[in-house]
Amino acid sequence: MEKIFEKDLHQWLEHVRIYANNGKVADYIPALANQQPEINAVAYYPIGDEVMKAGQFEYTFTLQSISKVLTLALALVQHGEKAVFSRVGKEPSSDPFYSVAKLEVNTPAKPFNPMINAGALAVTNMIRGRDSEEMVEEILKLVRLLTDDPSITYDEEVAKSEFETAFLNRALCYFMKQHGIITGSVEELLDVYTKQCAININVQKLARIAAVFANDGRDPDTNNPLIPLHVARICKTFMVTCGMYDASGTFAINVGIPAKSGVSGAIMGVLKKNGGIAVFGPALDKKGNSVVGMQLLEKLAEEKRWSMF
Ligand code: GLN
Repeated sequence: MEKIFEKDLHQWLEHVRIYANNGKVADYIPALANQQPEINAVAYYPIGDEVMKAGQFEYTFTLQSISKVLTLALALVQHGEKAVFSRVGKEPSSDPFYSVAKLEVNTPAKPFNPMINAGALAVTNMIRGRDSEEMVEEILKLVRLLTDDPSITYDEEVAKSEFETAFLNRALCYFMKQHGIITGSVEELLDVYTKQCAININVQKLARIAAVFANDGRDPDTNNPLIPLHVARICKTFMVTCGMYDASGTFAINVGIPAKSGVSGAIMGVLKKNGGIAVFGPALDKKGNSVVGMQLLEKLAEEKRWSMF
């Protein structure tokens, strides 16, 4: 792997920004439809060094599906592998993230993996808390720890907008509830899930989260353990096999690092023992990945020889 300099970030972001024209901002969550497709940013957080950045690096966006990695880590810490994987599988599904198709395959209603919506909903259902407010607090606590930023919170408008229109996610929940994969109130679960997806962040903080995974669960500045090693390893493995939805195979060939994307247009990538990278550009390709983000990561991966394979 070759060294990354801030000028590389500027240069490649400038080079790939035009690709925003090839994508479309997500609009199935009404509040996301307002995002400006021309906004973009990148940050690289090297372990033990200063963050580097380019573009609109202060701009905040919501985590969306990237939050699935963090709730998975939290559920694994709280309940252990056996309990978590009794509710959700470990295999890629090759279907879009919102798909209901495979819920009837194998064990009834057990989602294939925690990176698709069904699986993430089953995982969030396990987070400890007496009510949805306490569950959201638990998730925020982890995000604040990993970003080293106690001010992290969620965007109320985005959360409300998704909550009011999450009919497909409600359907997934009711199907899973029928089969005992999830328990309790579906409305409360959706309240937690839409808030976790609406957590506000910028590329610098997201790159820090990725850097924790790159550092095997340890703080990239202090080396203090934040997530147990085996939990970080499981999360990174899911990022490789299912992190980029049904484009994960292509991404593994073209980029070759653990990564997770969200429909807000963000992607975080993990450079083992090296650092974390985060890219933002809200225009998405057909599979829901940021077009600018994908281009930027492909170019950097090729130039800097990132592939772990
Ligand atoms: N909140 C979004 C949803 O459930 C997250 C999906 C995503 O980022 N792919 O639809």
